[in-house]
Amino acid sequence: MRERLLDLLACPTCGGDILLAYASAYDDKEIIEGVLTCKKCTREYRIIRGVPRFADLGKIEEDKAATVGNFGWQWTNFTQEDKRYDEQLLGWLQPVKPDFFRGKVVLEGGCGKGRHTKLAAAWGATDVVGIDLGNAVESAFALTRDLPNVHIVQCDIYRLPLKRVFDYAFSVGVLHHTPDPRKAFLSLAAKLKNGGHISAWVYGAENNEWIRKYVNPIRTGFTSRISQPVLYQLSKLPTLGVFLASKLIYKPLNKTSKPLAAKLFYNDYHNHLGTFGWREQHNIVFDHLVAPTAFYISKDEFETWWKEIDAQNVEILWHNQNSWCGFGKI
Ligand SMILES: [Zn+2]
Repeated sequence: MRERLLDLLACPTCGGDILLAYASAYDDKEIIEGVLTCKKCTREYRIIRGVPRFADLGKIEEDKAATVGNFGWQWTNFTQEDKRYDEQLLGWLQPVKPDFFRGKVVLEGGCGKGRHTKLAAAWGATDVVGIDLGNAVESAFALTRDLPNVHIVQCDIYRLPLKRVFDYAFSVGVLHHTPDPRKAFLSLAAKLKNGGHISAWVYGAENNEWIRKYVNPIRTGFTSRISQPVLYQLSKLPTLGVFLASKLIYKPLNKTSKPLAAKLFYNDYHNHLGTFGWREQHNIVFDHLVAPTAFYISKDEFETWWKEIDAQNVEILWHNQNSWCGFGKI
């Protein structure tokens, strides 16, 4: 943890300023082990392996703990980097472009292994704070530790240990895996200063009826309950189906005959998947099967979130015919 992060932190319990009580281990750039304390209520929070820890993992409800555990395993085992990550992220953040990050203080709600946090830093953000609840913070820290403008924090999205100082907050693929997606969105928006912007990408209720009907029962009843190493192996089978279809049918047909391709089942999504290699596709399939909690959000419902934060110039875009991208200013 770099000391400059202290300017952005606030006690998740009382909102007081956070001070460094002591550091017991430093490397040449940052604090590796130490203790933070709240100036107001004197609560203490530890810095462990370079990451400040604000989550009381002993008190996390069962469903949240299961989600965090399963995703944590994923992000410590699928640590590959894909050169398409930037394009993929910009798809989820549309209409935002890389230049938008320049000079901004940015918050990422649910950073996983830190791949988007790293991109936000590369695109010129002054500071980026990536938060996550689970073990993924270890991978995110390892991936970004050489970047002076990235800070990884372990905390609960509903109790953010942050001041209201952010120019931009974004969350991709995370809110719908929390027990209350709307509340998680409001919690992120509450850390924006006036005039700040927020982006969110969520699974759509529309066009996902087949997942809700056929995949969800398998996910909630079976695949989210088995051990992740077993699911890792089992999920290679559906991945093989998706991989062959996307590479041999969707991608070639989209190149040769767009009108014909448009008739295919979930064409936009499968064609998009076809741009990724085996490992990334395996990660995506695994991701669909591992989550104990997943909500599918309708456009109407999504729009009410933006009204609730009184956002201006809101743009809600339909992405890959199965999800919603939202962007607005508060
Ligand atoms: Zn406090």
